[in-house]
Amino acid sequence: MRLLVVEDHAPTRDLLTRSLARDGHVVTTAVDLASARERFDAATCDLVVLDLGLPDGSGLALCRALRADDARVPILILTAHGAVAQRVEALDAGADDFLAKPFALAELRARVRALGRRGPLPRGLAYRVGAVSLDLAARRATVGEREVPLTAREWALVELLASREGAVVTRAEILEAVWGEDSPQASASLDVIAARVRRKLGAAALRTVRGEGYALGGSDEG
Ligand code: CA
Repeated sequence: MRLLVVEDHAPTRDLLTRSLARDGHVVTTAVDLASARERFDAATCDLVVLDLGLPDGSGLALCRALRADDARVPILILTAHGAVAQRVEALDAGADDFLAKPFALAELRARVRALGRRGPLPRGLAYRVGAVSLDLAARRATVGEREVPLTAREWALVELLASREGAVVTRAEILEAVWGEDSPQASASLDVIAARVRRKLGAAALRTVRGEGYALGGSDEG
């Protein structure tokens, strides 16, 4: 893949670059928002690894700008450890995944692989489940004619499931993608968020597949 790594801390940037290059990726680096804007090429970039604290502003500004430009490239955000508010804000800004600093290289490589498998978000995809319409580009959910506001977490879950077009996504995968960790707390939170999504969009919109995970649409398999 062709990656853009935006990180101002030189040792971290070098570590990222070396590790990703070893895996066969072509890595372009940027040290701040200005150089990142200059070096990002929507036509060739497969993934952006983005630090939040940059000398000329927050990485979230770049994240929002790319989404506003309709860039579908997956964005992996580097966050401070345990900064839940930062993660929620990043989801709202259009990030796809997180990695808390300090990170293990094995985890970075696994997340890059996972985002690579997922590929770019489908352009302008609208997903329909019964009366529910999801506009993934505009991040709008409607039931019939009524727009239903979803929180960042609820939307992240729905978007992940919609991107798999009705296939079952395992709990472990959801927890990693949306919460960044497979912990008992995150697992309990997933149950709460799933229940809220069902309440907002209707029980038929979200299918629980016992022992496996969740999928959009269809009826429960127990
Ligand atoms: Ca930084």
